Amino acid sequence: MNIHSIDTLYEGKRVEERDGQWICPVCSKVYKQKKSAENHLRKQNCHSVVDVFGDTEYEQKAFMFFKNLQANKGKGYRPTIKSFRKSRLYKGVVMYVVSCIANDVDQGLMYSFLNEIVGFSHDNAILSNGQDMKWVKAYRSFVHNHPEISDSKEYYEQYGDVLIEEPDFLIQSIEKAKISAGWIEKKPKLLRAVEDLPIGYRMRLMDILKEAEESGW
Ligand SMILES: [Zn+2]
Repeated sequence: MNIHSIDTLYEGKRVEERDGQWICPVCSKVYKQKKSAENHLRKQNCHSVVDVFGDTEYEQKAFMFFKNLQANKGKGYRPTIKSFRKSRLYKGVVMYVVSCIANDVDQGLMYSFLNEIVGFSHDNAILSNGQDMKWVKAYRSFVHNHPEISDSKEYYEQYGDVLIEEPDFLIQSIEKAKISAGWIEKKPKLLRAVEDLPIGYRMRLMDILKEAEESGW
């Protein structure tokens, strides 16, 4: 199921009267004056993350991630979708997972990087920094500098032929750190494809390598 657009969430909604008070149909906030309730509803900004992402594929992926997160803590807490939605981490996890999907970043590796390498210790700090492009870039630099932690091998097994044949796909894969610069050197065929890249692409590659080196991660 697709995400619910903001317009759809408010479409056809009207404030409801109950015991002489006026209630917002979206967030259930109570008003004494009908006019105040209507003004509030008109702003269309009282929906929650679950209103937008509830029962979508994003929420399912976020729930899987949340379950793994809890399992790794080893405290025996087994969340259900209901308890996940009530969790104080719900919004953070959903937004983090949506961001990782948009940036094509592995959720688990990114989390480990922020936790174990950068040193953020609280879930909320990890989840919100994980959405910050500054840390997405730092993570990619880290992958380039540490080929052993990346999924380069699996990625190469899956897409090797395309990487060698399509310069566009190759440079984009390196830019996203789907394949680590440090790992390329171990694969002669891939290294040759990189050396044969047109000049414009080679310059993009130089930028990536320079940024990775200067990042210090
Ligand atoms: Zn409301």
